[in-house]
Amino acid sequence: MRNLQTLSNQPFDLIVIGGGINGAATARDAALRGLRTILLEKNDFAGGTTSWSSRLIHGGLRYLEYFEFNLVRESLHEREVLLRNAPHLAKPLQMTIPIYRNGARSYRIIQVGMVLYDVLSYDKSLPNHRMLSRKTTRQLFRAMDADDLAGSAQYYDGQAEHAERLCFENILDAEQAGATTLNYAKVEDIHVGDRRITSLTCRDMLSDTTFEVKTHDKTVVLNTSGPWVDAVCGLSESSVSKGRKIGGTKGSHIIVDAFPGAPDSALYTEAKSDGRPFFIIPWLGQFLIGTTDERYDGPLDNIKADNDEVDYLLQETNAVLPAAHLTREDVRFTYAGVRPLPYAEGKKAGSISRDHILHNHSKEGAENLISLIGGKLTTHRQVGEEFVNAVFKHRGEAVPSCPTHTRPLPGAISLEDARVNEWHDRYRDRIAAAVLDHLIGIYGARTGEVLALIDQHPDLAEPVVDYAHDIKAQIVFAVQEEMAYTFVDILRRRTTVSMHKNYGFDALPVVAEVLREYCGWSEERCDRNIQAYHKFMAENCIPDYALEQEVPSLQTA
Ligand SMILES: Cc1cc2nc3c(=O)[nH]c(=O)nc-3n(C[C@H](O)[C@H](O)[C@H](O)COP(=O)(O)OP(=O)(O)OC[C@H]3O[C@@H](n4cnc5c(N)ncnc54)[C@H](O)[C@@H]3O)c2cc1C
Repeated sequence: MRNLQTLSNQPFDLIVIGGGINGAATARDAALRGLRTILLEKNDFAGGTTSWSSRLIHGGLRYLEYFEFNLVRESLHEREVLLRNAPHLAKPLQMTIPIYRNGARSYRIIQVGMVLYDVLSYDKSLPNHRMLSRKTTRQLFRAMDADDLAGSAQYYDGQAEHAERLCFENILDAEQAGATTLNYAKVEDIHVGDRRITSLTCRDMLSDTTFEVKTHDKTVVLNTSGPWVDAVCGLSESSVSKGRKIGGTKGSHIIVDAFPGAPDSALYTEAKSDGRPFFIIPWLGQFLIGTTDERYDGPLDNIKADNDEVDYLLQETNAVLPAAHLTREDVRFTYAGVRPLPYAEGKKAGSISRDHILHNHSKEGAENLISLIGGKLTTHRQVGEEFVNAVFKHRGEAVPSCPTHTRPLPGAISLEDARVNEWHDRYRDRIAAAVLDHLIGIYGARTGEVLALIDQHPDLAEPVVDYAHDIKAQIVFAVQEEMAYTFVDILRRRTTVSMHKNYGFDALPVVAEVLREYCGWSEERCDRNIQAYHKFMAENCIPDYALEQEVPSLQTA
């Protein structure tokens, strides 16, 4: 049990509402620059949009069409910073754009875009683009629809397969720098007096008790609640809540196993039916296909891909890779999120700017509140830097230099690091090489801490399920070292178990057994969690058509 009552006596300089990637990066930067910081997240860290993205660390080639050169340049710069500071989590990804004569974008237009993308990433470590003829494209992608194919373009971007862990490592670094970071801490009321936020009433979602966080005369409150920004502003009775700032668009993905004609690298292709670009991306040994982009005004918790969106993504994948013959039966699971975009009345979803704005609420009667409107996964570090600079300016203080340009995340490690070989040598008999590589891809330099659990308890080297590389030690590590409180935290956001076959349901008895034995969880707590896990999957990841079929393993508890 956490005792959060003492927080009301603590003089925080900065209160961050929302523990997605942007809140986490801001708390990290703030703590590193010496601000007494608290972060409050109502769910789990990365439980919002951050875990529902396409996981690309990209400049956003598409934004060139809307002349957003600054955004593309900034994103490409951040891509490079991330590849350097978190090499275990952000990796180069080759992309291929098939170009069709009857497509919405011609060979020449794409070539111009590619050149611009290279110019805007002049300081990159990744290779420049190359244009491929029809013949070479056909040789490299035998399964690609050849009708009207003019050729293709190849370039590199980045991929964070575990975006949730990228967020968590920001949280970890923030904690290590002295920040207080709380998941399951929901802000329920914002109290404003004399044109300033004076305190927040929060609910500890784990104990269902409330606690207060107070401000002092220099405290700044940052609203990094993504698509919930307007809802959080609405928690105040003052005029802060006036005026809509977020106009989200929904994006859905489907996940399928490797299929006939599946590419070796990622495809960025145009939907034949409406010319919208979408991705087919290798991800965790499967393929992540998405996304859609529809204006969205519905409830923000538990968003799910519609049957129509699933069918659209299947149909468009089959159109570009006709041998795939993908059907609903092939969909392993789906996920969807809402992009926290600026509200733009009447604009086409795809054309709304993906740039971010720091909105100062002083004119609306809360001088110490700033909200983030927009913000991509890719640019989170930059958002943190801008926010913290703004906080120092607000306090009328000199802005200290920002350390996150060069500071590696806690797990940063290169594959050439001597520890990687050491671990392989030492654990060869107990852990398969592929499993160890998987652990290094998740924990990086912190892998040694997970392995130390196996030294104490050899049975924790066993796999959680036989079709994923996660092992039992990770379950214990998630609870003891990574602030995981639920089965969903463990299986969906600290490990990759839920993102494989059968929604992770097969793992539930194993997880319960490990938690009972090593973490002192009661049978009743495990049973409650199993039910909550089924509910989460039904509400977020199992397509409606699959729920309608009476497949026993898919039924909600
Ligand atoms: C389909 C899709 C694909 C995308 N693909 C990419 C991509 O490939 N690359 C890229 O760079 N970007 C991508 N994005 C954009 C990117 O994912 C988001 O912009 C980013 O994750 C937003 O992070 P955030 O921290 O601002 O918001 P979130 O991750 O949504 O975090 C906000 C947090 O605030 C919390 N919160 C809400 N209310 C309260 C409250 N009252 N009290 C406490 N906490 C609260 C929520 O629980 C949530 O965790 C994509 C987005 C979508 C939807």
